[in-house]
Amino acid sequence: MELELQPLALPGVPQERPIVIAGPCSAETEEQVMTTAQSLANRGTKIFRAGIWKPRTKPGGFEGIGVEGLAWMKRVKEETGMLVSTEVATAKHVYECLKAGIDILWIGARTTANPFAVQEIADALKGVDIPVLVKNPVNPDLELWIGALERINGAGLKRLGAIHRGFSSYDKKIYRNLPQWHIPIELRRRIPELPIFCDPSHIGGKRELVAPLCQQAMDLGFDGLIIESHCSPDSAWSDASQQVTPDVLNYILDLLVIREGKQSTESLGELRNQIDECDNQIIEVLAKRMRVCREIGTFKKEHDMTILQTGRYNEILDKRGAQGALCGMGSEFIKKVFEAIHEESVRQQMEIINK
Ligand code: PEP
Ligand code: MN
Repeated sequence: MELELQPLALPGVPQERPIVIAGPCSAETEEQVMTTAQSLANRGTKIFRAGIWKPRTKPGGFEGIGVEGLAWMKRVKEETGMLVSTEVATAKHVYECLKAGIDILWIGARTTANPFAVQEIADALKGVDIPVLVKNPVNPDLELWIGALERINGAGLKRLGAIHRGFSSYDKKIYRNLPQWHIPIELRRRIPELPIFCDPSHIGGKRELVAPLCQQAMDLGFDGLIIESHCSPDSAWSDASQQVTPDVLNYILDLLVIREGKQSTESLGELRNQIDECDNQIIEVLAKRMRVCREIGTFKKEHDMTILQTGRYNEILDKRGAQGALCGMGSEFIKKVFEAIHEESVRQQMEIINK
């Protein structure tokens, strides 16, 4: 299905990159919302975010203030002039937001993953003209992401955007949610006129990752950023470790380098960024392989085994050589790569055994 889109056309928001949406993960108290909103507005933020209903991984956490918080959002709008946005996950959320005059809605990652829920939201939005931003599903499934956009578009909403917030993984080493940049890049290729926002807060999960992720998103040609900002991040009721103060946010945005290269160099830059992302993944996978090798080293030491098990080494070379050939790579090249990897693995195991 072809999407029928119109520009987001957000009143009072400059057209240039990045369009910034900022505010706390959750609306907690009227005071926290108003203090954060005032600081952000004073520093130039035009669009405020705050979660009113919070999907939490485990029960027992703060699940959002609910309808009561919508009145605070209304106050933010009246007193600061910012547009206000929040997450909707059910038809009831939609009705409450429309009643309260919320300007922009977004659909959360867990909701995007559920077509029943997205359809329920789409049905509740029929005949309404409001910008809707659709976060990627928690799982790395581009079709599911596009499917959710199609459902909302099918209800007649044309002012749509996407939010890239990374993808769940079992191995949470650097990122809370893996960026897998190739997925939003492919979304851009498939639907070029769809504005894409990056959510560095939920990708990184740590405040020190917010700035580099914002820069990466800008270098990849994203249109906007949605960043969690709280007047007192350490005491936030949800996502404390990834929120930044309005002052820090201002600093991060000030330092951003926005490259608006011409078409030809822009696509070259995009390809280079894809190469960087591939290299990044290669390093991460290699590091993971070495960790496993060290664990094997410990096992061999405990069981008095030799490091080099020739049968196993030959099996790896044969198997990967054949696999590489199937992917169009020379067998000599694959052999060299795996010899180098094997050499380093042996070196790492030697370190464990000689400890
Ligand atoms: C959020 O933006 O606060 C949120 C819950 O995000 P996500 O749906 O990406 O987890
Ligand atoms: Mn959050």
